[in-house]
Amino acid sequence: MFVPDSNDLHSIADHRRAAEERKLPRCSVCRDPITDDHYYFIKGMSVCCDCLDREFRVLCD
Ligand SMILES: [Zn+2]
Repeated sequence: MFVPDSNDLHSIADHRRAAEERKLPRCSVCRDPITDDHYYFIKGMSVCCDCLDREFRVLCD
């Protein structure tokens, strides 16, 4: 059975993604590029929406 080798396509996509990520702000918590249309800047830290929910939200009793 012939399986198409998509390595070339993947590397092109990776390069393009890397180029896009370079100009994106980076989350200080998870270190991922922030792809949302907004993020939070708290005490000098850039925080993505996911981390804000995960790391900073505390549920009250
Ligand atoms: Zn984050």
